[in-house]
Amino acid sequence: MTGSPIWHPFTQHGLGEPIPLVTHGEGAALFTRDGRRVIDAISSWWVTTHGHRHPRIVGAICRQAEKLDQIIFAGWTHEPAEEVARGLRAIMPPSLTRVFFSDSGSTSVEVALKMALGFWCNRGEAREAIVVMEHSYHGDTIGAMSVGARGVFNRAYQPLLFDVTTIPFPVAGAEQATLDAFEAACREKPAALIVEPLILGAGGMMVYPPWVLTELARIAAAHEVLFISDEVMTAWGRTGTLTACEQAGVVPDILCLSKGLTGGSVPLAVTMASEAIFKAHLSSDRARTFFHSSSYTANPIACAAAAANLAIWREEPVLERVAALGERQQARLDGLSRHPMVHNPRRIGTIAAFEAGGGGAAYLSGVGPRLLHHFREHDLLVRPLGNTVYVMPPYCVDDADLDLVYDGIRYGLEEL
Ligand SMILES: *Cc1c(COP(=O)(O)O)cnc(C)c1O
Repeated sequence: MTGSPIWHPFTQHGLGEPIPLVTHGEGAALFTRDGRRVIDAISSWWVTTHGHRHPRIVGAICRQAEKLDQIIFAGWTHEPAEEVARGLRAIMPPSLTRVFFSDSGSTSVEVALKMALGFWCNRGEAREAIVVMEHSYHGDTIGAMSVGARGVFNRAYQPLLFDVTTIPFPVAGAEQATLDAFEAACREKPAALIVEPLILGAGGMMVYPPWVLTELARIAAAHEVLFISDEVMTAWGRTGTLTACEQAGVVPDILCLSKGLTGGSVPLAVTMASEAIFKAHLSSDRARTFFHSSSYTANPIACAAAAANLAIWREEPVLERVAALGERQQARLDGLSRHPMVHNPRRIGTIAAFEAGGGGAAYLSGVGPRLLHHFREHDLLVRPLGNTVYVMPPYCVDDADLDLVYDGIRYGLEEL
């Protein structure tokens, strides 16, 4: 074996593609050991909101590291965690009264599913099925994969995945089919519905209108089906608002947050739950405890970063930046949309996307890898999902860098 022993995620090492070594980041830029300045046009896989190394977040991490690095969270607490929980309570829907910490988006989904099943189990009602939307992605752990789309990514693990009820993606013009399918599924008394609100990220940046989400929530409530909103990607301004559900006037029973929770600086996640879900676990009987933990639950340094992010949201005009970035993205997308290789251009909040080439999304199609190679050569961190090209930069990206990204995309399309 030569070179690095590292086995990278979602990386086919057999293709021998170069793996750049990044030494530092600043705002929307990453710098490599070989002297390149790379524009981070996908926010380091959807996590970086304000920009790399935001001074307030870096400062909070440094100060906390000097005080308390790590502490068991079962039966103990600390100020950064309390501050995050209070901060979330102040800006998230008031009915989400409880904050459960974990350390990744996938884990926050596992926790949500366990809370939903625990809720029905503790109430003595036999409701176990989970309803999911076609093409969804909720993470890579076994439970999160089970409620996500099946395909080449998880074929080998199929024997471990549990059965779910799948409703179709609400294709434009055929939304009623989704609502009808959900209505039918609800008659079987499932435990919960889990959705990515307004946009399916890994599924190919597929957007659907707020009214569909509103209707899904209404049907769920009418049948007492718990509504789990996976806002791991969509929250923290990504879709133009603090949460995507807000745009549909929907308040979920369970809300999953991660990625931008710390501004994208260090790993942390929360699952927020309604009082009814908490109460179903509240008892003097230890058997009704919510049995979930991981070693680094509510790590103090990660919580300090999240508390700093919450302060930024309180004190800085983040939503104004988000709105401005949305407009700047739209102007460039409009310019690109006349290109014959650009299909179905769309934007929600700070996310712009389109399909490149002749359409027909297939992750393993040649278009994605060819574009990826082109973007690498041009010092752009753009990573198509199959033939879906998307731009999702940190909110601090300036016009010059955004122009470089779109110029790079245009040249890439020309080369195809
Ligand atoms: C990224 C993502 C996850 C998984 O989060 P990780 O932190 O990568 O485990 C779950 N749900 C959605 C919608 C995501 O975009």
